[in-house]
Amino acid sequence: MQIIKTIEDVRRSHLCTGCGVCAALEPQRFKMLNIPTEGHRPQVRDDAPETTGRAFSACPGIQLHHDYDTSDARLATSMRDAWGPVYEVLEGHACDDEIRFAASSGGAATALALYCLQERAMHGVLHTAADPDKPYCNRTVFSRDRASLLAATGSRYAPSSPCAQLAQIADAAGPCVFIGKPCDIAAARAAQKLSSRLRENLGLTIAFFCAGVPNTAASLKLAAQEGASTPERISSLRYRGNGWPGKWAVEYQGDKDSSERRELSYAESWHFLQRHRQWRCYICPDHTGEFADISVGDPWYREVGEDERGSSLIVVRTQRGLDILRGAVAAGYLTVGGNDLSLLPRSQPDLIAVRGNLWARLHTLRLFGAATPSFSGFSFFPFWWHELDFTEKLRSILGTVKRIFTKRLRKPAGLDSGSAG
Ligand SMILES: Cc1cc2nc3c(=O)[nH]c(=O)nc-3n(C[C@H](O)[C@H](O)[C@H](O)COP(=O)(O)OP(=O)(O)OC[C@H]3O[C@@H](n4cnc5c(N)ncnc54)[C@H](O)[C@@H]3O)c2cc1C
Ligand code: SF4
Ligand code: SF4
Repeated sequence: MQIIKTIEDVRRSHLCTGCGVCAALEPQRFKMLNIPTEGHRPQVRDDAPETTGRAFSACPGIQLHHDYDTSDARLATSMRDAWGPVYEVLEGHACDDEIRFAASSGGAATALALYCLQERAMHGVLHTAADPDKPYCNRTVFSRDRASLLAATGSRYAPSSPCAQLAQIADAAGPCVFIGKPCDIAAARAAQKLSSRLRENLGLTIAFFCAGVPNTAASLKLAAQEGASTPERISSLRYRGNGWPGKWAVEYQGDKDSSERRELSYAESWHFLQRHRQWRCYICPDHTGEFADISVGDPWYREVGEDERGSSLIVVRTQRGLDILRGAVAAGYLTVGGNDLSLLPRSQPDLIAVRGNLWARLHTLRLFGAATPSFSGFSFFPFWWHELDFTEKLRSILGTVKRIFTKRLRKPAGLDSGSAG
């Protein structure tokens, strides 16, 4: 049984999600590096002071604890066990056509953020965009206007550490929006408990649904397969957007100095990239942003028509989220249909089985002495018992045993060198 007591233990035991909150809470001790075959990972700085324990207490890699008020009468009780706190589920899209087109789904994340900037006097939006110097990598940006928000639209299936820059929210002159992966939002929520400035200034949290983050090596491998022979030749890499769901598109300098462009469908690129997700994503209990005020995903409950314009699935999870959503609709930033809770399970039917699988995965990891995170406030066993048939139950255990050995989970993650990320 591996005992995890420090951030270094989390990183070594393959549980790091790459959120970066450790670098925000103990900046003199940790910085984030991009390890191409893993993801963004914390590294202890030279001459770092002793740890204060603050980073570890907020780390989502090792722990996730739901502490929302389960007696809140506005929560949909039928949704709680499988989907966390839910007030409403709606389908909608940005009213701004340019945002809707450029965005991943229907641009709900960007439209809500823009509304907060322009109509709620929020100070800025902390989120993620392509790194102009290395377009196959991400960097964290603090957007203060529409142009900057628009430039960062579109999902990037690559590592990001937006929490490492939470100081920009804490130090801001007023409330801000934070957009991130579900684990980023959980980390920011935990960090809020340690910082009064973050409690004051986290004005809205938006998570997107997340099946996992592929590493940088995967992006480069796919780009190379499509002709971009070296990373230096890549001038642009988009994973989605500019249509719905949009195309994976790489632009690069060809062998004869020509400008080349290659595209793959969303399904083709995800099929390749998803095989290179970090381990922690395989045991993630929160693929739909349960710690956010609002979470957004794709309304996959129906076929996407040819040339259909973008659409978002919007899950409202808090009263603050509901107030802001209604404000954005009234002010003409967002168009939504009626509340229909069934849209969520119909769009993500596999996630029920994922919950069941997780019960077996966590127990098998523990039994074999591999590192196991602690999750409280989630329900797993009933889904394993009722939703998986006998073969699936067996596979949930044997598949984990196999992964413990093939992914060498009982051995420390390599500390190979990376680049600042
Ligand atoms: C790693 C990953 C996994 C995903 N898995 C699923 C899934 O399983 N099911 C599903 O329905 N949808 C998934 N999505 C897509 C997600 O549903 C859409 O991004 C979401 O619907 C938001 O769409 P939008 O049009 O509102 O966003 P937009 O208006 O285009 O805004 C997207 C926002 O996401 C931020 N962002 C983009 N990439 C990253 C990143 N790597 N890290 C942090 N922030 C980022 C941008 O800064 C931007 O603010 C995934 C996206 C990513 C990046
Ligand atoms: S999950 Fe986040 S807080 Fe934990 S070690 Fe990784 S980057 Fe740091
Ligand atoms: S699947 Fe879970 S752990 Fe992995 S990046 Fe997404 S939210 Fe984080």
